Amino acid sequence: MDAQFFTAWIEEVARAVGANRDHLTRLDAAIGDADHGSNLDRGFTAVREALAAAPGGTPGAVLSLTGTTLIRKVGGASGPLYGTAFRELGKALGSGADVTLAELASGFEAALAGVRRLGGAAEGDKTMVDALAPASRALSAAVQNGTKAEEALDAARAAAEEGAQATIPLQARKGRASYLGERSIGHQDPGAASTALVLAALHAVAAG
Ligand SMILES: [Mg+2]
Repeated sequence: MDAQFFTAWIEEVARAVGANRDHLTRLDAAIGDADHGSNLDRGFTAVREALAAAPGGTPGAVLSLTGTTLIRKVGGASGPLYGTAFRELGKALGSGADVTLAELASGFEAALAGVRRLGGAAEGDKTMVDALAPASRALSAAVQNGTKAEEALDAARAAAEEGAQATIPLQARKGRASYLGERSIGHQDPGAASTALVLAALHAVAAG
């Protein structure tokens, strides 16, 4: 997987976030402050412009620029959290021109570790970690089993989606939604929902 592949991923994320902007904002309206869709849409629009202005580069550089731009452009908690995830992923991929599936799996572990460090959330707290952690596990397991890239990324996509759906009955213990206590139960976490979109975009690009 080269820089072109990762650029195509981020472009697909930007498209999916734009298409789901109102849906994400509705999820955030139920248990947050109704800005998740518009925040991410603004962020990934800026990322798309930043990538277009800096063509070429390496997979690591593409993802680091993605993370840095998100931190700069997106407020609230999601900008720093998403920005950290992409920066850690970019850093883990190093400066090589091509990335193996095993390297990508390690990169996702680094991204998850970065998000956990910054946000302090564990699985079950009703955050993006509930989608990112199972996706990372599924990807690492697929690498262990020698699964081919498209199938491995489909497993990661499915794990993220399942994890996002599984946030619905949870009570939030981190982030703004935690202020609602039991009233956060019955709503999908918007950060987990957008993380599932990010993983679905990755599989879509791998599937061609
Ligand atoms: Mg919000």
